[in-house]
Amino acid sequence: MNKLIAANWKMYKTIGEAADTVRDLTRLAGELPADRDVLIFPPFTAVAAVSAALGVRPGYFVGGQDVYTKAEGAFTGEISPGMLKDAGCDYALTGHSERRHVLGESDELVGEKTLFALQSGLRVILCIGEKLDEREAGKLEAVLKRQLTAGLKGLPANTPAESITIAYEPVWAIGTGKVAGPAEIKEAHALVRKLLASLVPGIAKDMRILYGGSVKADNAKEILAIDNVNGLLVGGASLQAAVFKDIILA
Ligand code: PEP
Repeated sequence: MNKLIAANWKMYKTIGEAADTVRDLTRLAGELPADRDVLIFPPFTAVAAVSAALGVRPGYFVGGQDVYTKAEGAFTGEISPGMLKDAGCDYALTGHSERRHVLGESDELVGEKTLFALQSGLRVILCIGEKLDEREAGKLEAVLKRQLTAGLKGLPANTPAESITIAYEPVWAIGTGKVAGPAEIKEAHALVRKLLASLVPGIAKDMRILYGGSVKADNAKEILAIDNVNGLLVGGASLQAAVFKDIILA
């Protein structure tokens, strides 16, 4: 399975800045290694421009940072899977820690978004991860199990493994400069794989599990080499093309 290197641009970049960054990135990264895929999550306003700037380029994909549970209707401020596809998206992100902990999304809502996006033909990156107090209280497994159980609820048995990816992002490592150590990442990713084996046995071994949390150019290679790490979800260090290029090629 290819390693997936994903960029979460959060609420950064105008349309012009986003298109320029992606043009710089493809110029600097050149043709991708055969075992790498790249996925960009621009802010919604820049999704169509980033898709257009990428054109048809093997290994590069675009996604929405969030998605709603309905196809259309009176849901002010929300965006549907169909709208994301119309703007050139192949993927949607669900359950990012900022949506869970800043905007108050429940595990159940994250599960509904995940299922509807998949049913609508998008691939999904479902984010999970524990807060520091939960880790310190010995609740890592319980939190990951709760988030995965709700996040994958109702997933049809015939869902292809490549349609659903898990991003393990310890909340205490996101945007803080604190990276989980190799032993912590190995333990958490093995735990996610084990939980997937009981929740979605038919596809668990073929699903990608990404690590996210203060990934930088100088730690990406080491993290990518850890067992059960099938890619990275990168926030801050993905904003500059020259830096993100080094992570993609790590
Ligand atoms: C993220 O936004 O998912 C993330 C991991 O951010 P950062 O790389 O900045 O910690």
